[in-house]
Amino acid sequence: MKDPMVCTNCGHVGSPKEEIPGSIWITLILLCFFILPGIIYEIWRNSGTKKVCKLCGNANLVPIDSPNAIKMLESQGKTPASVRASLPKQQESTLKKGVKKLYGILVAKE
Ligand SMILES: [Zn+2]
Repeated sequence: MKDPMVCTNCGHVGSPKEEIPGSIWITLILLCFFILPGIIYEIWRNSGTKKVCKLCGNANLVPIDSPNAIKMLESQGKTPASVRASLPKQQESTLKKGVKKLYGILVAKE
């Protein structure tokens, strides 16, 4: 998981959701009738993609290590470290685990 973000509006901590402005329907309509504006519209939409809070949709998210986030977390009685520990960790892939195990065996034999 990428570093969690803190919402300055509701205090939600977690990975943000990506929001693409405009509508896919406008893109489709533009593409049907005028190819070029449709392409330009789609490029504009993708360039305007922003990260918003999963809960309230607020776009003002701050990294968990930023002074603002630390202040917000402290008002909730938390610290960045305690929040990180409570968030679900990314599962290691089976291949990665297997390689680590193999490496452990090889190192132990030497
Ligand atoms: Zn929020």
